[in-house]
Amino acid sequence: MNSLRTLIRDVPNFPRPGVVFKDIGPLLADPTGFTACITALAAPWRDVPIDAVCGIESRGFIFGAAMALAMKTGFVPLRKVGKLPPPTLGIDYDLEYGSARLEISSGGLGAQGLPAGARVLLVDDVLATGGTLDAGRRLLEQAGAQVVGAGVVIEIDGLRGRMRWPEAIPLRTLLRC
Ligand code: IMP
Repeated sequence: MNSLRTLIRDVPNFPRPGVVFKDIGPLLADPTGFTACITALAAPWRDVPIDAVCGIESRGFIFGAAMALAMKTGFVPLRKVGKLPPPTLGIDYDLEYGSARLEISSGGLGAQGLPAGARVLLVDDVLATGGTLDAGRRLLEQAGAQVVGAGVVIEIDGLRGRMRWPEAIPLRTLLRC
């Protein structure tokens, strides 16, 4: 994992003064690194039955879709507000500064051709305060899915996002910073 770490670029003072942004661009552009990242993200779930991988817009789409291919499952995008045609099912949540909303088609996973109670894996690029990942989990549960776990590339330890995630659901992160 140390070699993956070198493919994450720290950008100080972005998007606001005092924040260090983790830029995954170099990781995506590196064929060996990106492949190793997807292999490592998928590995813990090898023996876990999963119907679909759900990715959070937007960088969760990149890792989630690649994981779905690696795991031979379908992929379900959790969209930001205003991207899906109505009717939608949504959840509002707090960010470090401000608030946001994630949405899925109101038919839930059934509208994506998945059974009620589908077993899903939630994926995103960064766990910071944990609000986004947990909102994704709650939205999927509202939609009738069973969230069997979550996979995230980078966990920012200092922000303690893991504290917002239910202990009973496995949360696997590749790199802790
Ligand atoms: P949280 O809700 O505070 O955990 O923030 C996580 C969400 O914000 C994820 O969907 C990330 O894509 C995004 N995010 C937060 N910090 C960073 C960062 O340093 N680099 C890239 N994305 C970030």
